[in-house]
Order: sequence, then C-alpha cells, then structure tokens
Amino acid sequence: MTTVDPHAPVISIRERYRDMVSDRWPVTVAPQPEELLSSWLHRLAYANGVAPRAFARVLGLNPGMWSAALDLRLPADVANLLSANTGIAHNQLAAMTLSHDLPRELLLPLRNNGRQWSSTWLQFCSRCLAEGAQPYFRRRWRLATRLSCIEHGCRLRDRCPSCLGCIAVFDQAELVPQHYCVACGYDLRRAPVPYLSPTARTLDRCIDNFCSLEATAHAPFGPLLVRRLLSMPSAAGGYYSTMMLTSLSTSARTYCAEHLSRPSEWPVDDENDRKARRLWRLVPPTSDHCAWIELLANALGRKAGLPGASEVKKPGKKIPYLLGAYARMSPGPGCRLPPELIGT
Ligand SMILES: [Zn+2]
Ligand SMILES: [Zn+2]
Repeated sequence: MTTVDPHAPVISIRERYRDMVSDRWPVTVAPQPEELLSSWLHRLAYANGVAPRAFARVLGLNPGMWSAALDLRLPADVANLLSANTGIAHNQLAAMTLSHDLPRELLLPLRNNGRQWSSTWLQFCSRCLAEGAQPYFRRRWRLATRLSCIEHGCRLRDRCPSCLGCIAVFDQAELVPQHYCVACGYDLRRAPVPYLSPTARTLDRCIDNFCSLEATAHAPFGPLLVRRLLSMPSAAGGYYSTMMLTSLSTSARTYCAEHLSRPSEWPVDDENDRKARRLWRLVPPTSDHCAWIELLANALGRKAGLPGASEVKKPGKKIPYLLGAYARMSPGPGCRLPPELIGT
C-alpha cells in the first residue's frame, strides 16, 4: 500500500496553489469612489483578519499614524508590496493618496491629540458611513476647507460624539471595522448630525467647487486664494481670529464660516438690495474658475472690494454678495436658501 509507483504522474498542485494564492493575501477589497488610501488599508487589514495596528508590521512600517502618513506619500516599495498582494494597480493606489489633486497647504495636519478647538487629521459624515455597505472615509474629508458632505449637505464631524476622541483607526489593536471609535467603541454611523446653516453650506460648496490643486496652481490668484483661505479665521473675526484655518476643529471652522456668510452681516435696505442685484449680474459664470478664484480671494481679503461695492470694506460683508450670486447660478441638489440670500 505504501509502494510508490515510479511511473505515476507528478501532481504539481503545490506549485499551482502557490501561483494562485500565496502571492496574494486571501481577501482583496475594491477601492470605493473617492476613498482615502488609509481607509482602504484599514478595510483590507480587517478583511484579512489583521488589526490595523498589526498591519503596519505587515507593510514593514513603524506604528503610530502609519496609514495617514501613506495618504501623503506612498513609497514605491510599499506600493509594490500592496499591488503584488492585492492585484490593485499602481495607478489605483496613487489615486487614493492626497498627492495629485488637492492643495496640500489646505490639508488638516496629522494630529492625533490636542485641545477641543484644535483640528484633528480626519473628518467624517455619519450618513455616508451609515449608508454604505462598506463604510469608508473620503479623501476630501482631509481638507480644512471642507465642512459639509457634498452628498448629504450635513456638517462633518472630526470627533467621536461619545468620548470626543479623534479618528485613530491606525492604532486599532482589535479586529473591529473602522467605523467604530478606537477609544470607546462608539458606532460612528450613529453620530448625530450637527447644525450647519444653508448660507455656510453654500460657502463650503463654493470653496470646494473652485479649490482644486489644478485650479489654484494655474489661476493667477490661486496662491492668494489659498493664503486667504488659511486666514479665514482672521477675516471672520471673533474668538479664533489669530488662528490658522488648518489648526481649528470642524466646529471652530464652522463658527468662522457662519460669521463670514451670515446675510445679516450686511445692510439689507432697498438701496443696498439693488446694488447686490446689480453685482449678481456682473459676476462671471461658475464655469469661469479663474474669475471666481479672484473674486473669492478678494472677498476674503481686508481691503479689496467688488466692483461698485467699494463701500463694503470689511471682510465678511462681501462674501454674502458672492454667495447670493453663486447660489443663483449653482443651487445644488436639494439646496434651499433663505430669501434674503437668493434675492428674489
Ligand atoms: Zn454624507
Ligand atoms: Zn469614542
């Protein structure tokens, strides 16, 4: 029974098995639209039965904010390892990083702690997390200029509402999906949506529309707009006026946007109302990104004013004019603005 027939065919199943399986990890997860690389890495680790903190060692990286650092720069050896083990192409991996189309100056800094008014490195929309079969974090949630979700219109959060901890999936030592708070286990999909006024949401959408890396790099006023956006707290005035936009929490940046966009900040008598309507007819179409970048940069400054509105000197009094024009041309899905901003 134990005699081996020397003429029996050699079965090569071990070699074939190695070809098919061992070069790749058991489970591959497909990148989702606009997914951040770190989010995909955490989902990949979880799907393969490895906690995110331990997955850093699989990639030969030190612990800490290892995945958030890869969002900013994906070294070639890590990209090769990921591509070989998942079958995801290099260009798909690169598309999930932050290197190609977002202004780097406007990214939230990689900060994992800080005071309550301080920025954290990542924000989230609880409705996006709740609705997706594969809850994941979006690339644009890393931008300090981003306050609301484009899809749902609701304000983003940057902290767990239960323990006020920031997103720290890179440090997750348990085998838990990434939408649970690492510190307290709260399900972030259940987080209540904070209030954001329609006018602040319009400002948010307007800035997002014109603030890509390509637009700000090529428009003559692009660099000025980036600088003015960073100093938005100064233009808004009040408690945070000495801070940089990127240093502030989502709620503190919301405070600034609310102050800048509030219609009651500018006079609404008949004469000024007529001037506002005249200005709205003068502004360029939203397809003219260069002109809008210049308008936004000027409106966020302290001295320049819109043509014909030189009496409106203070920043924060020019922004509602622009938002009124923007909202009329680009109302956005489900967006209902108050009458004083629409100017009907
Ligand atoms: Zn959303
Ligand atoms: Zn928590």
